[in-house]
Amino acid sequence: MIILKTDEEIAIMAKAGRIARECLLRIGEMIKPGVRTVELDRAAEDFIRSRGALPTFKGLYGFPATVCTSKNEVVVHGTPGDEILEEGDIIAIDVGATYQGFVGDTAATIPVGEVSPDALKLIDVTREALERGIRQAVLGNHVGDIGHAIETYVKAHGFSVVKDYAGHGVGRSMHEGPSVPNYGKPGRGPMLRKGMVIAIEPMVNAGGSDVITFPDMRVVTRDGSWSAHFEHTVAITEKGPVCLTMV
Ligand code: MG
Repeated sequence: MIILKTDEEIAIMAKAGRIARECLLRIGEMIKPGVRTVELDRAAEDFIRSRGALPTFKGLYGFPATVCTSKNEVVVHGTPGDEILEEGDIIAIDVGATYQGFVGDTAATIPVGEVSPDALKLIDVTREALERGIRQAVLGNHVGDIGHAIETYVKAHGFSVVKDYAGHGVGRSMHEGPSVPNYGKPGRGPMLRKGMVIAIEPMVNAGGSDVITFPDMRVVTRDGSWSAHFEHTVAITEKGPVCLTMV
């Protein structure tokens, strides 16, 4: 279901989004070779709670942690644990913070130390694909315009978008309508209206688009190629897209 938000609700969502983003930036500063992902998770939970918010993901669909830590061939939904980051890895961190009942959802993929040029390109293309998707999030456009912009850019660089998972509406619930796929046709899908808030989140594989989902929720590329993920929570307004997960 698509739930439109009032300006007042969007203002609260911007606070939730800011907490999520600040958390992500703090975790980003901790990322270096030798760090265990569980350390990142503890720091994220402490930070979110210190800001008077709740870790949205913890307990959601049974997920046990505050952040998703998805390394190399893991696309999304990696669970933090004893896994140690090594020089040359790439790690996607996905954070959700609930503040005054509303959710902010954001993710970024971060290099661990020095990474290969191919890995850097994957990160850069995915980040830019998100920017291009956000630029389509304007009144009167359709959800398909966002996915089309993302997939076109990704394909032009020889990568592929994951099709089994998508962006989503966000509000009091982490997942609301509409689904926001990372592919689509211009002018297709639900029309974007004032008060919609959506999480746009390209998941980009260096190889093929197929993925496997494991019982612990971890999503991995079928061909073992590496994958990157970036996400912002974006409000559709009369002044254009407003990114709520910014600092
Ligand atoms: Mg999301």
